Amino acid sequence: MKVEIILLLLSPIFLICIAWEYRSHRENYSIKDSVSSTLLALLHQGSDLLAFTLLSPLFLYLYQWRLFDIELTFITVFLAFVLQDFLYYWFHRASHNIHWMWAAHVVHHSSPKMNLTTAFRQSFMYPLAGMWVFWMPLIFIGFPIELTFLVVALNLAFQFFVHTQVIKNLGWVEYLFNTPSHHRVHHSVADQHIDKNFAGVLIIWDKLFGTFEAESELIPCKYGAVGHPYQLNPIKATWWQWGYMIAKCGKARGFTSKLKALFGYP
Ligand SMILES: [Zn+2]
Ligand SMILES: [Zn+2]
Repeated sequence: MKVEIILLLLSPIFLICIAWEYRSHRENYSIKDSVSSTLLALLHQGSDLLAFTLLSPLFLYLYQWRLFDIELTFITVFLAFVLQDFLYYWFHRASHNIHWMWAAHVVHHSSPKMNLTTAFRQSFMYPLAGMWVFWMPLIFIGFPIELTFLVVALNLAFQFFVHTQVIKNLGWVEYLFNTPSHHRVHHSVADQHIDKNFAGVLIIWDKLFGTFEAESELIPCKYGAVGHPYQLNPIKATWWQWGYMIAKCGKARGFTSKLKALFGYP
């Protein structure tokens, strides 16, 4: 079974949750915005599948050089999940700090809306931005390729549930896990919220590496992406930042400045 199927299998649960949120908190929704995000999700799934197919020989090659032969047990699957979540933290942090990666990730942040369909807002340029590179340590350690991409998909599936303004505080869960409250801060453009809460599933990485910020009534969350125009057209939403980055690189004088335009802080 291809691991991409996981997200398709879970889609009825996603749709039920969206219907519930829409019925009870219609004010958080715009149909056009949700349709745009859903189209982006389909494009993203397509490009993921294509990238997985094209890169499979590379994954297999790397797996030949694996450090360990890892048997599938509850413990090793759990380890793969935690390790991938740790790598996700660094992937996400890099996506906010390196222009080349931000060009793909900004799409996820580019809506002023925050609801469950915001989770669908993903760029089909992630494979070019190099997201998959971050999972290579798992394959090199010796976790089977299918397991590696299964935990990647499960991490993404978990994150669907943190895109909502409806759930306020989850008590003790807030200490350990990424929650709607923590992720609202991540999507907020308030000064104190910029570059905070990069967690996928476990919030402990932000607490360990100094990027944690708790939600507070004193600083209301306002959603969107700094310096990026809101685009409903999925293609325009995907291309805008790449265009901006390439133009910035073209105008930059000298090799170092050009590199900085591509790989510096966006
Ligand atoms: Zn982000
Ligand atoms: Zn998000």
